[in-house]
Amino acid sequence: MTYYLNSSLKKAASVAARSLTIGKPHHAQWLITRKCNYRCRGCNVWREQDLKELSTEEIKRGLDILRKLGIVEIVFSGGNPLLRDDAAELIDYASRFFVTTVYDNGSMAASKIEALRKVDFVAISIDSLDAAKNDYIKGVDGSWKKAVETVETLHKEGIKVAVTPTISQLNLYEILDITDHFSQKGIPLWYCLYSFDLSVDANQLFRIGKANDEFIIRDKQAMVKLCDALIEMKKKNDKILMTTRLLKALRSLYAEDKRTWSCRALQNFFIIDHLGRIAGCHSHNFAGSVFDLPKTWNSEKFNALRKTYRKCSQCTYLCYIFYSLHGSPYGNLLLAKDQWKNARLLLNKNER
Ligand code: SF4
Ligand code: SF4
Repeated sequence: MTYYLNSSLKKAASVAARSLTIGKPHHAQWLITRKCNYRCRGCNVWREQDLKELSTEEIKRGLDILRKLGIVEIVFSGGNPLLRDDAAELIDYASRFFVTTVYDNGSMAASKIEALRKVDFVAISIDSLDAAKNDYIKGVDGSWKKAVETVETLHKEGIKVAVTPTISQLNLYEILDITDHFSQKGIPLWYCLYSFDLSVDANQLFRIGKANDEFIIRDKQAMVKLCDALIEMKKKNDKILMTTRLLKALRSLYAEDKRTWSCRALQNFFIIDHLGRIAGCHSHNFAGSVFDLPKTWNSEKFNALRKTYRKCSQCTYLCYIFYSLHGSPYGNLLLAKDQWKNARLLLNKNER
C-alpha cells in the first residue's frame, strides 16, 4: 500500500509538472493494433485490417519518448487494443507514467480485469439502451448484452469505467436517457460524435469514420437542444465528463455552423498508428515516426504543418475538438486533475 501511494504521488507530481510545461503536447492517441473483432457500420477500421504492428519493446520505447516529450495522457485504441497479447504489459508500463485510457468495444475488458486495475479509465462503447439497435450499429449480435455486463463487472470491481456512446442520427433522441441510465448507476459518460473522413488528404494516415447516411445528424435543432440539456444536466450531474466548454462549442457548430476553435493537431495532440507513424490527426498523411519525435517536434516542417492544421475545418471528431479547446497549461492541469483519480491525492493537498 505504501509502495502504491508513493508511486501514485510520484505519478501525480510528474503529471502536474508535465501539464504545466509550456509548448508541450498534452495528449496522444495510440492505435496500437488494427485488429478488431467487431464490424461497426460507421467504421472503416475492420474493413482495412493490417496484421503488422510494433513489438512490445518498440511500444515501450515509444512511450519513453512520449514521456520525455511531455505527453500527459495516453489513449490506447485500435481496432481493439485489448486484442494484443501484450495488452496487460503495455497497460502496466503506460499507466506508471501517463493518465491512461483504454478503449474497448465491450467484448474484452471483462477478461482483462487485473490489467485494467492500473488504468485511469476504461472506455466502453455502448450506443443505445435498445439491445437490437446497439447490435445493429456494432454489426455483432449480443454485443449490447456483453458490453452492459462488462460495464457492471468493471464497476463492481472498482475499476474506473466510462460509457462512451457515439452520438448519431440513430441515437440522437435517446442520448439523455442513456446518460440518465448509466449516471444513476454511478457510471460516467463521455460522448463521441459520429463523424466521417472527408479525405482532406489522399494519403491520410488511415481511415476511421465511414460515410453512412443513417448516422449523419440531420436534425441539427435536436442536436442543439441536446447540447443545452447536457449543459444543464452537467450542473447537477458530475458523471457527464464532457466539459461545458466543449458542449458550447458543439452547440455553436450545430446552431450557427460556426467553429469556435482552431485545430491544435500536432500541437496539443497527435495520433500514432499501429506502425508507430505519427500525424496531427488520422485524416492527414503521416509526418514522421514516434521514434524521431525528439528531433522533429520543434522542426520547421512540424511548425508549417501546425499552421496548416490550424486553418483546417475538415472534421468534427469530438476528441480532436476537445484537445483543441483545452490546450493551455492550466487547462491541461485541470484536465489531468479531472481525469486522473489519483492526481487528486496531490492536487487537493496543494489546494488547501
Ligand atoms: S468502431 Fe471500434 S469496435 Fe467498431 S469496428 Fe471500428 S475499431 Fe472496431
Ligand atoms: S480539423 Fe484538425 S483534426 Fe480535423 S481533419 Fe483538420 S487537422 Fe485533422
